Amino acid sequence: MNNASQSISDQLGRPVRDLRISVTDRCNFRCGYCMPRDVFGKGYQFLKQSQLLTFEEVTRLVRLFARFGVRKIRLTGGEPLLRREIEALVGMLSALEGIEDIAMTTNASLLTLERTRALKEAGLDRINISLDALDPDVYARINEVNTPLEDVLDGIGNALSAGFSAVKINMVVQKGINEEEILPLVERYRHSGAILRFIEFMDVGNHNQWKLDRVYTAREIVALINGDYPLEPVDPNYQGEVAKRWRFRDGGGEIGVISSISQPFCRGCSRARLSAVGELFTCLFATSGFDLRSLLRTGQDDETIAGRIAEIWRNRADRYSEERLAPGNSASPDSRSSKVEMSYIGG
Ligand code: SAM
Ligand code: SF4
Ligand code: SF4
Repeated sequence: MNNASQSISDQLGRPVRDLRISVTDRCNFRCGYCMPRDVFGKGYQFLKQSQLLTFEEVTRLVRLFARFGVRKIRLTGGEPLLRREIEALVGMLSALEGIEDIAMTTNASLLTLERTRALKEAGLDRINISLDALDPDVYARINEVNTPLEDVLDGIGNALSAGFSAVKINMVVQKGINEEEILPLVERYRHSGAILRFIEFMDVGNHNQWKLDRVYTAREIVALINGDYPLEPVDPNYQGEVAKRWRFRDGGGEIGVISSISQPFCRGCSRARLSAVGELFTCLFATSGFDLRSLLRTGQDDETIAGRIAEIWRNRADRYSEERLAPGNSASPDSRSSKVEMSYIGG
């Protein structure tokens, strides 16, 4: 078979369009909602280099996913900029037939001007940067490291000057922790060209002490911003878009709100995830993945690996966030006790 597109659908009729790739499980931050230090501290066993997919292996898998309609790739982790020469992987992926969009999610602490330019030159189209607060103390309390906030703000500035087709700033809002940072972030990044995105705190993994009453909902976020900066809704860019879009009525740009908890969007979910060791996950809240690396490393041909990918996707029936909200389910974070961690699967 050549690389011509052959669409496949899962059990709920959803195609596969996006592939999120975790390129490392390591991070230089310890955000409590993702890698709490009491679990990911000293003594925690991170993956060895030899366990990680090589760039050639990642590229081969992406080429096979493209056969089935994957057009968008997101490089994430852990912190993707910790993976040495990640620019080279961007270049390899951007040369693949069928891949139309390559994005990265990063904490931007290592996003120097030189690195930003190299990523852009290699073919990175878009970048999402995580920033949960503008107050340095709140920021440090959330990520539990001493990285100067200025490095991250400079990273955002570098991204904005590099000519990416979109720069988005992701804020995870936790009730009682950083909701007071919402309006300062809006004030700073309105009119900047960046799109602010507010994300409800999610019950990913098993260690982030998630509780429903720590979720500051999409509705609350929009009401708060609208009080000071009047908003109006914007139509989605495409069917199944995760963020609900709003724009400032005065022309200050737009924001996105991701309501994974209060208004789940499983019905349009066309995202697959590849862990750093080459396991395919069909849901962010999965308890296990499907090992593709062993196929790569035992000399299987493209047809065998593509067949396995198609088989996994066709069997997919995941709709965790919708099930969480179903009547009778108390939104308990313990409803699955061994969910894979976000830093492993890739956010
Ligand atoms: N280290 C990079 C970063 O922070 O941007 C990339 C990986 S991080 C796991 C990807 C995204 O997941 C970030 O925007 C982060 O804020 C988000 N995230 C992690 N844990 C989350 C949680 N429990 N709820 C909501 N978003 C979460
Ligand atoms: Fe690291 Fe990103 Fe997780 Fe924070 S959210 S600990 S920056 S991987
Ligand atoms: Fe997709 Fe799973 Fe999230 Fe639903 S819960 S939107 S199926 S990743």
